[in-house]
Amino acid sequence: RGVTYGEMRRLRGLMLLVNPHSGRGQALSLFSNHIQRMLTEAGLPHTLIVTERQNHARELVREADLTKWDALVIVSGDGLLFEVVNGLMERDDWEEAIQTPLGILPGGSGNALAASIHHYTGSPPGSSEELLVSCGFLLCKGLVSRLDLASVSLASGHRLFSFLSLAWGFVADVDIESEKYRYVGAARFTVGTLVRLASLRVYQGRLAYLPAEESPPLDGASPQGQATSFCSSVFCQLPKASPDQGAAHTFHNSCNSNNATKGCRSEDPLPASRGPSDSLLVPLEQPVPSHWTVVKEENFVLVLAMYQSHLAEDLLAAPGASLEDGVMHLFYIKAGISRAALLRLFLAMEKGAHLAAGCPNLVYVKVRALRLEPFTPKGVITVDGEVVEYGPVQAQVHDGLARLIAG
Ligand code: ADP
Ligand code: MG
Repeated sequence: RGVTYGEMRRLRGLMLLVNPHSGRGQALSLFSNHIQRMLTEAGLPHTLIVTERQNHARELVREADLTKWDALVIVSGDGLLFEVVNGLMERDDWEEAIQTPLGILPGGSGNALAASIHHYTGSPPGSSEELLVSCGFLLCKGLVSRLDLASVSLASGHRLFSFLSLAWGFVADVDIESEKYRYVGAARFTVGTLVRLASLRVYQGRLAYLPAEESPPLDGASPQGQATSFCSSVFCQLPKASPDQGAAHTFHNSCNSNNATKGCRSEDPLPASRGPSDSLLVPLEQPVPSHWTVVKEENFVLVLAMYQSHLAEDLLAAPGASLEDGVMHLFYIKAGISRAALLRLFLAMEKGAHLAAGCPNLVYVKVRALRLEPFTPKGVITVDGEVVEYGPVQAQVHDGLARLIAG
């Protein structure tokens, strides 16, 4: 007889954070129609918290007693998880706080992380409701994986933590312009893409990056030398599952040692008040380190760094990405591409086939860090689909800094 959840230990419960306005405004009813019974049948106690305003969830998790919860679960789009990740990283005890398992149930219009974890299970893409149910099952299973985060530094000195994407140009504009089509749900990106194609423009700036192969993974922000394993299920305190038991988590082998010496050829790491220091970055006022690659072109249609596979439910932008691969998948499209060719790329992206399309304007490279300096005084940069301060920005990956309930 298998061990049931109840026999493993007393569960503390899930904190479920719902954004009632995400997507078509149906996150609450989606939850009660599709998920609530599933959690009850799995014997998972949970507390539903409906956010009242933007940044409510961020403030809540900044102050919360995290010892009371097995996991923080978002019922919304990626924007609410962005709040939670940053709320955790703003705590004095960020190092521990960011180890709190996170979960995601797609209730928004931009459900890229949910689509990514569904994709990683090997299941074929399905409707929005199928995606929700799939993520509900993953949540009930409770297998925890490590999740890469990127730290994103802005010109003001602000630093954010990102789990999904950094975008400038076409994709960032679509991200924001399409918010007014939120009522069509996930199709908002298709609509937004077509609208933006009609007014296609060029974005000028400088892009530089540290190629992944140039930089053997170093500490990043790997769990600060905690080489001890944990059972892969968040709901279980049985002795840890060894890797050969098929545990979902993968400790990046190279993460646990060799700190700071290998791979980091830059000057001293950028100091940080909270959060891991950015060992690969130098201050934005200084030129990028000489071993970085500076892109020759300065006219772009888009620049997009992805750390998970999906940009939206039906956009498989980075087919090669996984939860904790320790790299950012950087794409840029050089100016000069025709509208038709750009449309073909986005259509191919539905199946992740855009890279095989042989488009000479599309460049793809795996990087550990990047810097983007837009020349135009106004514009849009998004991080995880949320608008951030516009201007020079740089980012570096922190291997497996967070934990996510995934397949
Ligand atoms: P969607 O996928 O539909 O965009 P998100 O989860 O990304 O849904 O949320 C959209 C935005 O709403 C985010 O910027 C988030 O911070 C914000 N938000 C969260 N809770 C609330 C709320 N109660 N009222 C208004 N905005 C909220
Ligand atoms: Mg959003």
